[in-house]
Amino acid sequence: MKKIAVIVPCYNEEAVMAESYKRTKQALRLVPGTVEIIYINDGSRDHTKALLDAIAGEDKAVKVIHFSRNFGHQPAVTAGINNCDADLAIIMDADMQDPPELIPDMLRLHEQEEANVIYCVRKSRDGESCFKRLSAKLFYRVMNSMSEVRFPVDTGDFRLIDRKVMNEFNRLKEHGKYIRGLISWVGFKQIPFYYQREARLAGETKYPFKKMLGFGAKALLYFSKKPLSLAMSLGFVAVAVGIVLGVWFTLGKIYGFSAAETGWTSIILAVIFFGGVQLITVGVLGQYIGVLFDEIKARPDYIIEETRNFE
Ligand code: UDP
Ligand code: MG
Repeated sequence: MKKIAVIVPCYNEEAVMAESYKRTKQALRLVPGTVEIIYINDGSRDHTKALLDAIAGEDKAVKVIHFSRNFGHQPAVTAGINNCDADLAIIMDADMQDPPELIPDMLRLHEQEEANVIYCVRKSRDGESCFKRLSAKLFYRVMNSMSEVRFPVDTGDFRLIDRKVMNEFNRLKEHGKYIRGLISWVGFKQIPFYYQREARLAGETKYPFKKMLGFGAKALLYFSKKPLSLAMSLGFVAVAVGIVLGVWFTLGKIYGFSAAETGWTSIILAVIFFGGVQLITVGVLGQYIGVLFDEIKARPDYIIEETRNFE
C-alpha cells in the first residue's frame, strides 16, 4: 500500500479553498493507497487560514503548515516536500488550474512507465492572456539555450515525484529554489503527461507580470552562467570595433581619406555606447553577486508558525 500526498501551496485563496478541497478529495477517492493533502498557507491575509484550520479539524488526512509570513510559492512547495513522508507526492496549485481529476491518470502513468517523475505539460491554457502565453513560450526556449539542464517546455510545478526524487531534493542546499528546474536537474526517469490547463476557479493570479519577470530572472541566474560569458563577449566585440576604427582613422590621417576632426557626434555616441556596455556588464556581474549574497547568508527558506495534524 503506497502513501500518496498532494502538496498545495495557498496564498489568499479564500475564494477557492472550499471547492478546491472538495474536488481534490473527490478525485483522491479513486486512488488506491492512503492519501493525504498537505496545504501550505503562505502567510495569507484573508480567511484562508481559518478555512484550512476548519478543514483540518474535520479531516485528519489533511495536514496544514502555516508560515509566519508570505515567503512565496517556491518556498511553500519546498516546505511541502520537506515535510512529506509519503511514497509519492503530487504538487498542485490551489486554484484548480491543475485539475486534481488528473491525479489517477498520473498515478497510472507512473506505474506503467515505472517513472520517478511525471511532469505535466500544458497542451493549452485557458483564461491566460495571450501575452502570458507568449512570454512563457519564449522564456522556456531562452532557458534551454542558456542552461546546461534541459527544461521541458510549457511545464509548471504540477508534477508527481517519488520518494527517491524527494530525498534528493531535500539534500539540495541552495536557498533560491527554482523547483521545476531542480527536479529536472535531479534526473532519474522523467515522463511527460499532457493536459489542458484550465482557467483559475476564482480570485486573482498571485503572479503578476513583475513577479513573473523576477521568477524568470531567478531561473536564469541559478541555472546558467551564460549571461556572464555574453557580457564578456560584448566587451570583446567593443574592443574589436575600437581596434578596427583606430586603424581606420590612423590610416585615414596618413593617407588623407578620413575627416576625423569633425567628430563631435561620433565621440558622444562612442561615450554613450561604451558607457552602456560597461554598465550592462557590471549589472550582469552585480546580479550574480546578489545571488551569492543571498546564498551566503543561508537564511532558512521559510519559517513555520504552526502546523495541523502533523504528529
Ligand atoms: N502562491 C503561494 N504564494 C505566493 C503566490 C502564490 O503559495 O506568494 C500559490 C497560490 O495560492 C496558488 C499557486 O501558488 O495555489 C499558484 O499561484 P497563481 O495561481 O496565483 O499563479 P498562476 O497560476 O497565475 O501563475
Ligand atoms: Mg493559478
